[in-house]
Amino acid sequence: MAPTTTIHDLPTELIWEIAENLDALSRMHLRQSCVDMNKRIYPPTHKELIEIENTPYGYERGLFACANCIRLLPKEMFADNMTVQKRAKRGTGSITRFCLECGIHPVQSRPRYNAGDHIIVKGKMFVICPKCDGFKEGKKQKGKGQSECLDCWDLRSEFDQETATNERKILDNLAFPPLCVSYLLNSLCIFIPMYINRWIEEIKQLQVAMKCEEEYGSNQI
Ligand SMILES: [Zn+2]
Ligand SMILES: [Zn+2]
Repeated sequence: MAPTTTIHDLPTELIWEIAENLDALSRMHLRQSCVDMNKRIYPPTHKELIEIENTPYGYERGLFACANCIRLLPKEMFADNMTVQKRAKRGTGSITRFCLECGIHPVQSRPRYNAGDHIIVKGKMFVICPKCDGFKEGKKQKGKGQSECLDCWDLRSEFDQETATNERKILDNLAFPPLCVSYLLNSLCIFIPMYINRWIEEIKQLQVAMKCEEEYGSNQI
């Protein structure tokens, strides 16, 4: 029986030759077919991924290319504004599209999103929270997006409520001393003249007593 030869037995130069004669989508499929092909065939370029996203295959699966990580990803891996208008498929800005992961935690380049940015995903507002650094659902108040996530906002609200309670307590305590002071002043106004009168009476009685003693004493002598 003659030995069977498979594509894996071909030299790499021949594999490249075959790959170069395939369109971008077929080349990607061949590369994804096994570990051996994955090693021997170059990954698709960003330009090729843009080409693939515009094939029926790309449309059916809702795939979009990311300019940062050079991957084909489903729509939900992008912010809403990354897959519409200029950045939609065949849009003039589609080559600048980047996925959420690259916007928040890129492997090599700088993050595209900054703390406090509002990022809309499936109509829901998310933020990179400057408080906890998390990518979380953002707080909206009176229809206006806040920079903090819902959790941090709730915590802050709790803190604010606690602070307000403490401030109220402080104000209540501050209201107490003036009452004390006025009570004290009133008391002083009543008691001081009373004590002064008593001292005057005592002094008078002492003087009378001294006088009597002098007279009585002199008589005795
Ligand atoms: Zn990416
Ligand atoms: Zn937070």
